[in-house]
Amino acid sequence: MDQLETPVVDNHLHLDPERGRGMEAVDEFARFGGTHMLIVNQPSWKLGVDSTDPEDFRTVFETTHQIAAEATDYLDGRAWAILGAHPGLISRLTEDRGCSAAEAKACMQGVLDIAAEYVDDGRALGLKSGRPHYEVSEAVWAASNDVMKHAFELGAEVDCAVQLHTEASEDLTEVAEWAEARGLAAHRVVKHYAGGRLAGPTPSVMSNKDWIETAAESGEPFLMETDFIDDPDRPGAVLGPKTVPRRVRWLAEKGYDEAIRIAHVETPKQAYGIDTESTLSR
Ligand SMILES: [Zn+2]
Repeated sequence: MDQLETPVVDNHLHLDPERGRGMEAVDEFARFGGTHMLIVNQPSWKLGVDSTDPEDFRTVFETTHQIAAEATDYLDGRAWAILGAHPGLISRLTEDRGCSAAEAKACMQGVLDIAAEYVDDGRALGLKSGRPHYEVSEAVWAASNDVMKHAFELGAEVDCAVQLHTEASEDLTEVAEWAEARGLAAHRVVKHYAGGRLAGPTPSVMSNKDWIETAAESGEPFLMETDFIDDPDRPGAVLGPKTVPRRVRWLAEKGYDEAIRIAHVETPKQAYGIDTESTLSR
């Protein structure tokens, strides 16, 4: 396969070398021209961590850090880890573990504190937080917003981006304002699984053609992702690892060179402070 003349970043995917395709998926991404990936830790329960003690989440982060280090060996660029608490954890804690919303919040904020340690010492690039995309009680919603605000505080403190998992929306201005109020610039807040249009945070656009084209047309900063989950039980549930490089080829054919530069060089620099060109070894 011809190499592309640009870095190609998948801004959000998961790898599960134990049960899924693991490094074979990274290799496929690289063969199609992918160069950099941001690997988000699996939801803790998928790795068998079913605890209310934040300390128990270290194994999840350790695993993701190691996967990113290994993936880097397969890439012309590199991989980074993004660590945090999946917003759905709050439902597991309140419904399955019998925690109050306040207890669940404390647990998840503690998990984020540990994730921030990993960012602070360079083992991870950014944090992951958010709020449920499904209906929850008012108490759980408020607690989730508090967890997210805590992530913004930590992001400001250790100087990193915060990826968000939220409800589908084209306007998260209010959430971006919460970040700004805590010292984290709105463009360092990245909404994962975004459509082509978003006010407030930086959109990380799911790589469907329609959404990517909308983002490319906008001229605004955006990132591209697959949310590949590497789950052998749900093979068709998400986009595969070669999707971002394929969409970049498609954008190039359609003449969207500027959008390619925005999504794979400029926005990664702006949101995460990473240089996808100088980290290319080829
Ligand atoms: Zn994901």
